[in-house]
Amino acid sequence: MSRLGLPVPPGFTVSTEACRTFLTTGEEPAGLSAEISRYLSALETTTGRLLGQPDDPLLVSVRSGARFSMPGMMETVLDIGLNDESVLGLAKVSGSERFAWDSYRRLVQMYGTTVMGVDPALFDEAMTLLKAARDASDDLRLDAGDLAWLVETYKRLIRDEAGRDFPQSPAEQLHEAILAVFRSWNAERARLYRRREHIPDDLGTAVTVQRMVFGNLGPDSGSGVAFTRDPATGRPGLYGDYLPNAQGEDVVSGVRDAVALAELEHLDPVSYRRLRDHAQTLERHYRDLCDIEFTIERGTLWMLQTRVGKRTAEAAFAIAAELVEEGLISADEGLARVSGDGLARLMFPRFDSAATGEPLAHGVPASPGAAVGAAVFDSAEAVRRAATGEKVVLVREETTPDDLPGMVAAQAVLTGRGGKTSHAAVVARGMGKVCVCGAQDIAVNGGARRFTTRDGTVIEEGTVVSVDGSAGVVYLGPVPLVASAAMRYLESGEQADSVVCAVGRALDHADAVRRLEVRANADTPEDAARARRFGAQGIGLCRTEHMFLGERRKLVEDMIVARTDTDRDQALAALLPLQRKDFTGLLRAMDGLPVTIRLLDPPLHEFLPERTGLAVRIAAIEAAGGQPEPHDVELLDAVNRMHEENPMLGLRGVRLGLVVPGLVTMQVRAIAEAVVERTRAGGSPQAEIMVPLVGAVEELRLAHEEVTRVLAEVGGETGVTVRCPVGTMIELPRAALTAGRIAEEAEFFSFGTNDLTQTTWGFSRDDVEAAFFSAYLDKGVFAASPFETLDREGVGRLVRIAVEEGRAAHPGLETGVCGEHGGDPESIHFFHATGLDYVSCSPFRVPVARLEAGRATL
Ligand code: PEP
Ligand code: MG
Repeated sequence: MSRLGLPVPPGFTVSTEACRTFLTTGEEPAGLSAEISRYLSALETTTGRLLGQPDDPLLVSVRSGARFSMPGMMETVLDIGLNDESVLGLAKVSGSERFAWDSYRRLVQMYGTTVMGVDPALFDEAMTLLKAARDASDDLRLDAGDLAWLVETYKRLIRDEAGRDFPQSPAEQLHEAILAVFRSWNAERARLYRRREHIPDDLGTAVTVQRMVFGNLGPDSGSGVAFTRDPATGRPGLYGDYLPNAQGEDVVSGVRDAVALAELEHLDPVSYRRLRDHAQTLERHYRDLCDIEFTIERGTLWMLQTRVGKRTAEAAFAIAAELVEEGLISADEGLARVSGDGLARLMFPRFDSAATGEPLAHGVPASPGAAVGAAVFDSAEAVRRAATGEKVVLVREETTPDDLPGMVAAQAVLTGRGGKTSHAAVVARGMGKVCVCGAQDIAVNGGARRFTTRDGTVIEEGTVVSVDGSAGVVYLGPVPLVASAAMRYLESGEQADSVVCAVGRALDHADAVRRLEVRANADTPEDAARARRFGAQGIGLCRTEHMFLGERRKLVEDMIVARTDTDRDQALAALLPLQRKDFTGLLRAMDGLPVTIRLLDPPLHEFLPERTGLAVRIAAIEAAGGQPEPHDVELLDAVNRMHEENPMLGLRGVRLGLVVPGLVTMQVRAIAEAVVERTRAGGSPQAEIMVPLVGAVEELRLAHEEVTRVLAEVGGETGVTVRCPVGTMIELPRAALTAGRIAEEAEFFSFGTNDLTQTTWGFSRDDVEAAFFSAYLDKGVFAASPFETLDREGVGRLVRIAVEEGRAAHPGLETGVCGEHGGDPESIHFFHATGLDYVSCSPFRVPVARLEAGRATL
């Protein structure tokens, strides 16, 4: 900003490198003190005053500044340089004793908590008691004498709690404050924030030391936060909050209610105009939405900080489209600025406006979306309840960075105070959490764990509320949900608003540039049709076991318990027409596009009743002298026969096909007959047959032979040539490691990264996430669950090996992925880089995958 010629208070920056050295070695880098002194001297020369000079002190702020914005997570110390002497000098030169003592009490308080580790609540308590004694509704009503008394009280507190005095030496204050900001990189909340936002832990923070400018010098002064566009909707125009006679942290913490920035136009039109011009300069320079912290000191505007601003998903799409339109950025850059996660958020349902009823409260619509949950009143309770699976809404008078764990755990955040730029709003937007803040018509009583609405309704902890972050409204009880505008657009092309049009443009551009195809995992014609509307280019995985459930279960049981070949053939023959109908429907819905049908995968006992329950029921009947049903006895016998300690590693996948006579034959016949039916109906069926859980080429060879035989048989019977490519899933390490051999028998590979992750790590995919993943995430073993985001180093290496060796042995071999990772943005970028041909994911993830496949090419 200095280089752009904007008014920035002079100062200097200590680099992240110094921070990293300090954090890794525990020692400050050699020469740091000397360098700080040198730059401080230069600053003193520029400003013509010495730090803490008794008659006219130079005061400085010490702020964190990391590569990625981490709003409020690290420390700031303001007013460094004040002590018992210089406070008197400041009072004289500023002409305001109140201002001087207010600044001093802020320093003692911030320094006490940040540098000396005193519990902030103790300072708040002293302030609250004083305000009560003076009958003052806010701190502005305290006079110089009150504030001087508060300084003494705070200093005593520090002595009692920290066992040391608040230091009077300005140089010591500066030095210690810089180290404290370094240390705050590793504060619990900062670590948690980084983990959530996937920010590396080893970057460290820079520290900026800057001459203080004062927003608390009287009514012609103030502090504010501005956005160059509305960060919630993306609408152009200066936007933000302003707080007269206050320092910056008052705005962000929501200690007092700020006014809308538009008010500043009346309060101080000259500063407002300047701010608007500077905002434009910044937006043109960064070619993006910027957020700005500024202070007005007795009518002079100072720009303190700017960065590319956090925004909602709506705003991200709207701003990107607009900047592309304005020619400020290219279509590629526009695509880079939106994300699949953001699109997924826009696809979430909204409240049904016809069913909302009377609102409980209104506030600022700070972060959009609809969320329902039980009201809870502190971060710990939110975490505790969420861990049991309960959905909660965190209700606070105002949030502080220490509320971060509760915000992460909650569905939504509701605060009684603070504007769109308050901590709660900024953090919630960054996380995509629903947030309504500054709901002034409720009184939050955190201690009593309840809030009260204007008409006297009391909402106790545990009461379910619905929070509409788009409209800024809260309702009692659960409100039903309806499809969002983005979802309606994806389903039907309805262009309800400009955000939806922006989504359409981003998707069109992604489709134009992406190389990866996107298919869907779908097992029913309805899912297939929806996936196709969402842009799927085929089905990458039809899990046929899903067709064996419901009322067909009895037929499957008959097949499993069959004692003779005839009984089994009869059971399979009963399943055949049903399967054929399933496949015909799928091929119709995806006519002309590939439909990859996987032969039965899971262990058969999954289709049988639960063992203990059945055994107990039979035993109870026998104990009562009764005769159990013969079918139940047969079932129990089968369940016992098939019981496996580790069914995931047992008789499943291709192994089933090889040992259960007639199973592959029936499924392949059903597929082939469906192809014939669709061909005769004039369609263009593109069925592909996929063999699961292959570990050795011999397994695939045997299965392949049977498939070829049945296809030829059906072709002979019907006179219609049935050509279905036959491929395999690669979901065992052995398959990946012998991919060159397996490729001799396969026309395509589809990576089953769920099983591949399970078998590579030796983690049970059904158990471990609940069992110990949260501990592993805390300990940093991995940054995200490997079942959600592909582990590139291990599982990814196997994928790379298999692609390379498979293609070397079988040029042109088609490769795709159909595990859950196929819909995960980060994993999609890896699959693009690895050269796969397609990703396949659940229908609702298809638009997300299209967008990310496009972004992967940038
Ligand atoms: C996989 O293992 O990744 C896969 C797609 O198959 P399933 O999830 O059905 O085991
Ligand atoms: Mg699998």
